[in-house]
Amino acid sequence: MSDRPRARQCPRCQAPVLAALVGNPCGLNVRADPYPLSLAQELAARLDGRFSYCLRLHPFLPPRLITRGPEHIASGRCAHLVVADHHCTGTAPAALSTELDSLF
Ligand SMILES: [Zn+2]
Ligand SMILES: [Zn+2]
Repeated sequence: MSDRPRARQCPRCQAPVLAALVGNPCGLNVRADPYPLSLAQELAARLDGRFSYCLRLHPFLPPRLITRGPEHIASGRCAHLVVADHHCTGTAPAALSTELDSLF
């Protein structure tokens, strides 16, 4: 594992997520929603207790997911895409549909 994000699926809600180990060497397992946020959306996510991250895309290097520390945010709008922790709805559509199938 590295801070190189990989496309995964949330085991609970089956939503596509970006999985990465952020903040080496003592990395944190992060599952982030793969949707870039506006400043207002990021603020809402942080007020919601979710962390936000910078998705650094580079034409030649592998993408990286890095923590947005207070300094990084204070230094103004960066050129990175901003994503936040995956907001899990906890519902599993696949499991739900099989449950419905068994009802009828
Ligand atoms: Zn950034
Ligand atoms: Zn989920």
